[in-house]
Amino acid sequence: MTDEPVEGFAGLGLRAELLSALSTLGYEEPTPIQREAIPPLVEGHDLVGQAATGTGKTAAFALPVLQGLTPGAADDAGPQALVLVPTRELAEQVSQAVHRYGRELGVRVLPVYGGQPIGRQLQALRRGVDVVVGTPGRVLDHIERETLRLGDVRTVVLDEADEMLDMGFAEDIEAILAETPATRQTVLFSATMPPRIDSIARRHLNDPVRITMGRKAVSPDELPLIRQSAYLVARPHRTAALGRILDVEAPAAAIVFCRTREEVDQVTEALNGRGYRAEALHGGMSQDQRDRVMGRLRGGSTELLVATDVAARGLDVEQLTHVINYNVPAAPEAYVHRIGRVGRAGREGCAITLAEPREQRMLKAIERLTGQRITLEKLPTVTDLRARRLELTRAALQSSLETDDLERYRVVLDSLTGEFDVEDIALAAVRLLHEAAGGDADEKEIPSPEPPAERPGRAGRAAPGKARGSQSGVTRLFFGIGRQAGLRPQDLVGAIAGESGLSAREIGAIQITDRFSLVEVPESAADTVIMAMRRSTIRGRRPTVRRERFTPR
Ligand code: AMP
Repeated sequence: MTDEPVEGFAGLGLRAELLSALSTLGYEEPTPIQREAIPPLVEGHDLVGQAATGTGKTAAFALPVLQGLTPGAADDAGPQALVLVPTRELAEQVSQAVHRYGRELGVRVLPVYGGQPIGRQLQALRRGVDVVVGTPGRVLDHIERETLRLGDVRTVVLDEADEMLDMGFAEDIEAILAETPATRQTVLFSATMPPRIDSIARRHLNDPVRITMGRKAVSPDELPLIRQSAYLVARPHRTAALGRILDVEAPAAAIVFCRTREEVDQVTEALNGRGYRAEALHGGMSQDQRDRVMGRLRGGSTELLVATDVAARGLDVEQLTHVINYNVPAAPEAYVHRIGRVGRAGREGCAITLAEPREQRMLKAIERLTGQRITLEKLPTVTDLRARRLELTRAALQSSLETDDLERYRVVLDSLTGEFDVEDIALAAVRLLHEAAGGDADEKEIPSPEPPAERPGRAGRAAPGKARGSQSGVTRLFFGIGRQAGLRPQDLVGAIAGESGLSAREIGAIQITDRFSLVEVPESAADTVIMAMRRSTIRGRRPTVRRERFTPR
């Protein structure tokens, strides 16, 4: 495995320490949002970007921030960059990302959010930090205590701006921006662009570059006719889920797409550990090495390829039956490109995508682009898996009975029939075969994804243990109104039932926090409720109503 330079990123004008960090992380190519956003940000422009989670937007703003940083500037100076995010999970994630990308620069980054003991934050702030990643409430708190000075900030990033507004952080954001120098660079990312976001951009950004990952629809004949499905699975269970799906699907030849080389190596190892003949294919390999791997796939001695997009470029294998996305590709176009590798010439094909709950929006974007449905499936249970393995054992026996010459084994059978019943002997043979093929390896159930445990102001979660998400037919809706507006559960039930025609019985768990509320409704009625609520008011207000977006970790 050679360590080629990260050409794609080098072309974006990033400094050597960052390129080297990206190479270590196994990033081979910038994602579309990174390709478009990094150069103008490095040049110092303001920017408004429409991009959802999973597109690589964190690196799109974090790399330019790191590019312009003077690490370890005077200890008494304030941070040089401030990233505002809506939730504590995101504060942790973004802060970790900045730390990973900036490792070789020795960057000091601090996540700052409510619910965390303030003492630790104070200590770190006193010692000096280069980048602060925080939720607006807690950042403002520090400004008011005069423990955070923003006079040296060169770049402010508003990440997931629509979420922050929905959570009622608009005023906090204004107050924070007022503390930063007017000459700062301002970057705003948002999954959606409602007028309120536009208004913030107009008031606080200076002639920003605008990036929309706008997409033209794909014409139907560019798409193969294949089965497309997706599984929602939380990150820690992804490898186990992949193994289980492969066990049930039993593909003749499949390619598993990963984002990074690191991931390719890790997945290959896990699959080999599970008894598959899997081979890694990534951009760091020479053409010769790749050709050999491809030869083994064509010859049938390898059944699974695990690859990055770059490595799979130009790959053409007739036998492929399955394309599996280990995570949602960063751009819908990449999805179309990947699945184009199966279902050629009318052959059977199948595209399977593993998605974290927070990446569901990306699945929707792909559906819009292709005009085809991606069916959400339930992960196979341990019972499904056992049944499937028994079926495979049965099929193997049937095939052997039909095609093999079994005479040479008769001597074994004859020596046993004196003592044992023939049926019992057959059962013992089945058991041995079954176990040799992996049998009922001890498997635990993989839990369905849980909603995030915390958000600022959220007190626990409603209806613990109750299945939710479109798989179970129940959807949680977010209402941007809460206790502070005097909201009570009966207001929500009254408004929903009155406006959408849903009966009160069909409304599930309701959770009201200070600033927002979550309400469970049947998935089939979710759109009707959302549309109806847009036309009406609750306690004299017209709050945001939309599907709840999970951001679990
Ligand atoms: P984000 O949309 O920022 O949440 O990023 C989604 C995931 O993609 C994260 O796990 C990143 O580590 C990963 N990622 C971001 N950019 C790239 C890239 N250019 N190549 C491979 N993986 C990436």
